[in-house]
Amino acid sequence: MSDQTPAHYRLSPSSSKRWIACPGSAQADLEDRESEASREGTLAHALGYATLTGTELPDELRGEAAALNLSADQQKEMAEHVLGYVKFIQELPGDKQYEVKLASLCIPDFGGTIDCLRLDGDMMHVIDLKYGFGRVQAEGNTQLLSYLCLAREHFEGARRYAGTIYQPRLQNGVTTAEFTDAELDDHFCRVMDASMSDEFNAGDHCRWCPLLLNCDVAHARSIEMADVEFEEIKSGPSVERLEAIISFADVVAERAKLARMKLFEMIKNGQPVRGWKISQGLKHRSWVNEGVALSTLRRRYPSNVDNFITLKTPAQIEKHVAPSVLKELDLYHRPPGELRLVQSSAEGEGLDFENEFDIVT
Ligand code: SF4
Repeated sequence: MSDQTPAHYRLSPSSSKRWIACPGSAQADLEDRESEASREGTLAHALGYATLTGTELPDELRGEAAALNLSADQQKEMAEHVLGYVKFIQELPGDKQYEVKLASLCIPDFGGTIDCLRLDGDMMHVIDLKYGFGRVQAEGNTQLLSYLCLAREHFEGARRYAGTIYQPRLQNGVTTAEFTDAELDDHFCRVMDASMSDEFNAGDHCRWCPLLLNCDVAHARSIEMADVEFEEIKSGPSVERLEAIISFADVVAERAKLARMKLFEMIKNGQPVRGWKISQGLKHRSWVNEGVALSTLRRRYPSNVDNFITLKTPAQIEKHVAPSVLKELDLYHRPPGELRLVQSSAEGEGLDFENEFDIVT
């Protein structure tokens, strides 16, 4: 990878579906939201690159498996998937380059990094590894088309074009589509148009937009979609209207999720928010000490000992022992679970983050 090129392009292929539909969403320094899934994807890509090129894993990614809390099984699963990806590429003929960073020669801010670019005679082929579970198809894929347009600007001689999505965690997760020069021309024009526009358009592409929480256009569309009279539904609005309502429901749900995350963060940083608090969730009941629980129950119910030969969960034991008695014996507890945002009226006290999790009374 060249060090001369920016780390992130305003018009990046990975979010091209969104900014082609809503050019206003393509803004400088706008990074996609980072999540555990995206960090896992970054690690899988780095492992793939290191294996294909026989190089070391970058320093900043060493220890990432531990930071992500990946179990031994999850690490093994990732290694197997990455090896499958490596084998898939190695078995293809032609000249292969990895992590190819390309910027457009004609469209400013249009550029990105291709996982694998394969050139074989007149065939130009890009392969994109996706480690997530959301199914992505190669057919009509704007990310693959964008990579091919970029590669076509830099490498001559291709007359046939193909793009592969390699999604190892899905059944039948490898799909390949072929594209023509005319399709690439058409896509290139759409990118050019988007690069010169600052129009905002809301749609289901908003779901993945980093601007979603503060976007007035998406907000207005949410209100428009929610503003449907019951009578209108009953009297049968057009199929298009019903489809628009349904397709935007996921965007509204995503917006609500982001708003909850933001409130959670504000309260956690010590900012009081009227009507909301963070409370400590509780896990399922479990035995304080399994050995003590087993012997106590055996002593207490000698005639019912079969039920205690292998200790079950408190909920299962309750089917044989009166719940009040089990509670009195004080053999189980509910360990603290995840912190969660709840309305102030919900049961339980909120936590005081300024004073290291004291209970707010
Ligand atoms: S959230 Fe706003 S900026 Fe983002 S894609 Fe939707 S309309 Fe465009």
